[in-house]
Amino acid sequence: MPLPKIGLIVSVCLLVIGAIFMAKGGSGGGEPVLSNNVGVVCMNPECGYKESVDRQKYSQMTKDRQTELGITDEDMAMGRGRGIGTEQLPLVCPKCEQESFVNGFVCDKCGEIYAAQEGTFRDKCPKCGYSRLEDIQKNLKK
Ligand SMILES: [Zn+2]
Ligand SMILES: [Zn+2]
Repeated sequence: MPLPKIGLIVSVCLLVIGAIFMAKGGSGGGEPVLSNNVGVVCMNPECGYKESVDRQKYSQMTKDRQTELGITDEDMAMGRGRGIGTEQLPLVCPKCEQESFVNGFVCDKCGEIYAAQEGTFRDKCPKCGYSRLEDIQKNLKK
């Protein structure tokens, strides 16, 4: 019975297109919500290596890692990636070679690279205190 499956795929495609459309139309000002660079931070306290990479490059890095570990896209979608329960896959740190290289942020204001913070705004810069999420929320309240 191939038909129901095709129906499912079509509706998933429509959902994706709808989501993209909403993401594009929703902001109003046309300013992208996410900055172009991703901060990648090593969570190993003895290492502390961090770098800023292009968003596209980062998704490629994640993809490569996924392939390396033999995890399918379906596994990732189901949150089965290494059983960590998130869609995020820790990368291998180029410096200490531990699986502790995770997605963080690059500050739009001062360029600081940092891991997600505790509290309401996960992207709040520990150096200058700027948070893009906070900024967006403030703009919404206006
Ligand atoms: Zn490291
Ligand atoms: Zn900053």
